Amino acid sequence: MTAARHDDGPGRGTGDGIGESGIGSDARSNTPHDTQNDAEQRLYRAISGALLSGKLRPGTALRERNLAEMFKTTRGAVRKVLALLGQEGKLDLRQNRGAFVPQPSARDVSEVYGVRKVVEAGLVAVLGAQLAGTRGTAALDALTAHVAAEEAAWRRGDREESVRLAGAFHLRLAELLDNPEVTDILRRLIARTQLFVALYEAKADSHCAPDEHREIVAALAAGATERAVAAMIGHLGEVEARVLACVEAEAADDDLTGILTGLPA
Ligand SMILES: [Zn+2]
Repeated sequence: MTAARHDDGPGRGTGDGIGESGIGSDARSNTPHDTQNDAEQRLYRAISGALLSGKLRPGTALRERNLAEMFKTTRGAVRKVLALLGQEGKLDLRQNRGAFVPQPSARDVSEVYGVRKVVEAGLVAVLGAQLAGTRGTAALDALTAHVAAEEAAWRRGDREESVRLAGAFHLRLAELLDNPEVTDILRRLIARTQLFVALYEAKADSHCAPDEHREIVAALAAGATERAVAAMIGHLGEVEARVLACVEAEAADDDLTGILTGLPA
């Protein structure tokens, strides 16, 4: 199996614009105090970064009081940041219990990858027709160059860049459609699956060749739309299967805790 380890990983670094929040500009207009605003931004970036790099484990509670002390700000400011992260699907907000790092089940993971398959299969089907003919040549050349950059990053062992470029590949396909609604939907879906990968797969260190994106581009370039659609669905299925294997491994660990301690995990 050639599960492309590079794909859809945690969005470290910047540049693909995935999962970024506009808290800076929003907060600025709402709060007159720059220091509070700075604290909100630092807190937002700290939590977001820790989530996407897999440092915060599923189910971890984020306490308002602790965060306020850590970031030398008010609980109100912390609440605002936690609410925004909740809206973005990066945290679970439970009434009267607070904010928690999400603990998506295998079913949650499958459902979101299911949506990605539907959206991105449709995307590739529409693009297949659009890229046929000479008008598509420049776009296909750019996609080929993008995949070559992914492979180069992977070969020199630059995992962070390889992961970033891999995430950007899917968004780039959407952008070719020149339909901001589609791009927006896909951006949100990618952010969710990146979080799954970060939560469950950050510990895994298996690296595989980033060849599946090339297969999709090659099929598009050959005008073989059906093959491109199948390649996209297959690719997302591979990524999903890898995340699911990690969800199951984590669930097995939880069971073990229950068995050994006699307490519910
Ligand atoms: Zn991919």
